[in-house]
Amino acid sequence: MAEVIIDRERCKGCLLCVSFCPKQLFTLSDKLNSSGYYPVKIKEMKECSGCAVCATVCPDVAITAVDR
Ligand code: SF4
Ligand code: SF4
Repeated sequence: MAEVIIDRERCKGCLLCVSFCPKQLFTLSDKLNSSGYYPVKIKEMKECSGCAVCATVCPDVAITAVDR
């Protein structure tokens, strides 16, 4: 099963992953991280294909794509 792990503390809310996910699975969370950004979260993890596009485009290395 494909899954992505988001490091909330590394995310700066730049929205690149939001734009690039071919399945549009990302949304912003409503809780600030300790740097004052709203990090992204995944809406429907079961829809994730594991393509890892999100992990590739993230400039802050906040996303890890895993296959379980
Ligand atoms: S691995 Fe692919 S489908 Fe899954 S969240 Fe990232 S970009 Fe979207
Ligand atoms: S690309 Fe990285 S830093 Fe930008 S919103 Fe997505 S997880 Fe956060």
